[in-house]
Amino acid sequence: MTLQYTSPSTIPKIVADLRASFRTHRTQSLEFRKEQLRALQRGVEEFRGEFEAAIKADLNRSSVMDVSIVAHTIQGTLDKLDDMTADRETAGLNELDKSFVRLSPLGTVLIIGPWNFPVMLVLDPLIGAIAAGNTCVVKPSEVSENSSAAVTRMLTKFMDPTVVQVVNGGVEETTVLLKERFDHIFFTGNTMVGRIVMEAASKHLTPVTLELGGKCPALITEHTDIAVAAQRIAHWKTLNAGQACISVDYVLCPKNLQEDLIKSVIGVWHEVFGKDFRNSDSYGRIVSKKQFDRISKLLKAAEKQNKIVFGGKSEAGNLYVEPTIVTDVTEHDELMQSEIFAPILPIINYETFDEALNIINGQEHPLSVNLFSDNQDQINRDESLPFGGVGHSGMGRYHGKYSIETFSHSRAVMIRNQSGL
Ligand code: NAD
Repeated sequence: MTLQYTSPSTIPKIVADLRASFRTHRTQSLEFRKEQLRALQRGVEEFRGEFEAAIKADLNRSSVMDVSIVAHTIQGTLDKLDDMTADRETAGLNELDKSFVRLSPLGTVLIIGPWNFPVMLVLDPLIGAIAAGNTCVVKPSEVSENSSAAVTRMLTKFMDPTVVQVVNGGVEETTVLLKERFDHIFFTGNTMVGRIVMEAASKHLTPVTLELGGKCPALITEHTDIAVAAQRIAHWKTLNAGQACISVDYVLCPKNLQEDLIKSVIGVWHEVFGKDFRNSDSYGRIVSKKQFDRISKLLKAAEKQNKIVFGGKSEAGNLYVEPTIVTDVTEHDELMQSEIFAPILPIINYETFDEALNIINGQEHPLSVNLFSDNQDQINRDESLPFGGVGHSGMGRYHGKYSIETFSHSRAVMIRNQSGL
């Protein structure tokens, strides 16, 4: 299935129409917002089968997780919308005043999505945007074309076109879209494109939420339950073939625990996918030839250094990359220069806990750090992050009430008694 791109010349009118629609105030009432959320809920239910087939075609994996998270978020938002949007009373300046904070929708917002969770990562922010009372342009990724085509059909069929519009395309179309003025831009994607989005937003002083990537480490210590850590690391490295923003990117492990860890990780992979990863029904594929070529270079560099201890095979024809473990990795290796986003697990050895923390701190801020330990001193020294990054992994946060706050202006309202000054 091919994704039909939006003609760039139509984009300014799409945005202008949504802006005019917002100005009618029809999206302001909670009942209207709930109707939109219910419409989205019906759409997601009706398109379950289509999403499954599309994600299978794009990434060779199941859509169960993506769709269930979206369905759960819609229901949770519907259940709590009244509470989440209620005025919050604050202390007045004096006893004659009444003051409160009211969440007001921002206006017309833009959501730009990535290809790795192509349904969930546009619909999840959309729930927040419409629950907060905005009108919205959704720009799914052109790379996951089957999933983005399914999302487009679903939104076109179920959502009010004066509230939600979909724009499809690649760099050219998105560049035109970014010239428009929005009241908020919610971007999920890589750090380099995040910079482009923020630069475009700055021309209009538009606030942005940037959900970016990074290198998320896993830290193994003498206080780690190796079986538990192996289970989780193995899972993250192969979920969506390692193409997830909070996938474990690399492991820091003392040399004496390494053999045990490697054996356990391989054991979990075989348990889940069988002996033959390539022919497993549930083992994912790399999304595109471009990504495959990037990953092949990483594999070749590791192979040249004789550092691959497990896996290493790949097949351009069906975009297959075997789960791979690389040892004796240093911070200077190719694998440590940027986010891996593939089922390749580098292991870096360290001697002291401080040395491990220095390696993590030597990188840009990751989205998450996974410390496997039952030692409270070690846990206390691990900085945990809320969902949403910091520094090069992004800015802003979302999910639940944070999504509504992201797409709202916290307006200070003071009601002053007429008899005073
Ligand atoms: P990407 O940045 O290449 O693409 C994201 C979107 O930006 C797409 O819709 C694409 O069309 C658009 N785009 C690409 N180049 C552009 C340009 N030059 N100008 C304007 N728009 C452009 O990201 P991706 O490869 O689709 O996704 C993978 C990245 O996303 C990884 O870095 C991953 O860590 C990150 N990610 C982050 C989160 C999170 O929640 N923080 C979630 C998923 C993915």
